[in-house]
Amino acid sequence: MKKISVIGAGFAGLTVSLRLAQKGYAVDLYESSSRVGGLLGTDRTEHGIAEHAANALIRTERAEKLFQELGITPSYPLDSSKKRFIFRYTPRKWPLTFLETLFFISKFLPKFLFSKSSLKPRDQETLENWGRRNLGATATEYLLGPAMQGIYGNEISGLSSKLILSPLFSGRREKYKGLLTGPGGMQDLINKIELRLKELGVHIHTNSSVDLKNLQGVVIIATPANVAAQLLEDTHAELSAILTKIRMSSLMSSTLFFSKAQETYKGFGCLIPRGFGIKTMGILMNSYIFKDRDKTYNETWIMGGVKEEQLLEMSDEAILKLIAEERFQVLGAKQSLLEYRINRWNKALPYYDLHLEEAQKKMADLNLTLAIEADAKKIFLHGNYLSGIGLSKILERSDLLAAEIGRQHG
Ligand SMILES: Cc1cc2nc3c(=O)[nH]c(=O)nc-3n(C[C@H](O)[C@H](O)[C@H](O)COP(=O)(O)OP(=O)(O)OC[C@H]3O[C@@H](n4cnc5c(N)ncnc54)[C@H](O)[C@@H]3O)c2cc1C
Repeated sequence: MKKISVIGAGFAGLTVSLRLAQKGYAVDLYESSSRVGGLLGTDRTEHGIAEHAANALIRTERAEKLFQELGITPSYPLDSSKKRFIFRYTPRKWPLTFLETLFFISKFLPKFLFSKSSLKPRDQETLENWGRRNLGATATEYLLGPAMQGIYGNEISGLSSKLILSPLFSGRREKYKGLLTGPGGMQDLINKIELRLKELGVHIHTNSSVDLKNLQGVVIIATPANVAAQLLEDTHAELSAILTKIRMSSLMSSTLFFSKAQETYKGFGCLIPRGFGIKTMGILMNSYIFKDRDKTYNETWIMGGVKEEQLLEMSDEAILKLIAEERFQVLGAKQSLLEYRINRWNKALPYYDLHLEEAQKKMADLNLTLAIEADAKKIFLHGNYLSGIGLSKILERSDLLAAEIGRQHG
């Protein structure tokens, strides 16, 4: 049986190990921490569950198939989650005025109908500049900005339009059918993958510190980009130097359980554009998204990004005080707090900026995007800095890598 080593047991490492083990490879999965799952995980409290980071996957056919084969009955969002709010002095379902909407349509629609190529993102063009060019300033500020900051955890002034929008123009997008998660949250998914890996004979080595020099054959590095850069430093200096240029960004996710639900705004949540002096980027109204998971109403508040990394250094007490103030300002709500969980993710996510665009381009030019061959090793890179930041994209790359390894190595 052919041996494969996978380094990093986040969603990328776990899912690629699963696909390879299913193809009959003998997989050793090395994880530096004491548990698998990486950013994904769920705390159970007496009031309900609190996610460590992601609360769901995009419901693609591939994601549905994963849940099915693992025997997980998915939890789908409630109808109430169809409503989404964007803050503009108050949470609104549509944040533009009538005249602003007309201007936005008159700017975007002719291009969309008659000149789609002019909508294509340009090299080294920020998402903000793309938005101003194609949607106008107001729609960029109140629609595009908050929507993208909700996914990429950063202001659009630094994000790369090419990295984020190119898949829309490639014509090979998977169909989007909403969201899905496990009935007990994302930990259900992690537990089931871990169990299946063990059934398939995968050796999971937690608390392990692995040296690339000691591994032979096919190796998949599924760690964050900065760790991949360190692992490759001695053996693959050129690639390591490119990966070092990828900037990592921090995010903080705070889940708060309240004595009583706020009922003024019932929906998926509220995104908060920059410019109002509010630190929070977005609020998830968890109890209006998934049913039967909580005993009491709860929300998740997301803060951070490269411009607000210092927020992660605040004490729990200071964070709760800030959220209480902003909660009153945004939702006008003041219910008393029963319980909370704060997750600080320091330099844990790739910053989808122009440096990452440049790094991906260099890797593609040097033909390093998929596999690197050297001294009796073939190294494949995996993770959210290559495939797209979301879990459905990571899953797609796991399938792609497993197919490619199968093709090359039988
Ligand atoms: C607050 C927040 C909310 C999010 N919400 C969503 C969402 O709703 N939907 C969605 O699709 N995505 C969401 N994301 C993004 C998504 O969670 C991540 O992109 C994804 O989990 C990353 O998976 P990964 O395996 O690439 O990396 P990671 O989860 O970072 O895993 C990397 C693993 O490598 C290990 N490792 C590090 N160094 C070493 C080493 N030297 N040796 C061995 N192992 C090592 C780490 O311990 C870790 O387990 C969110 C992210 C955050 C932070």
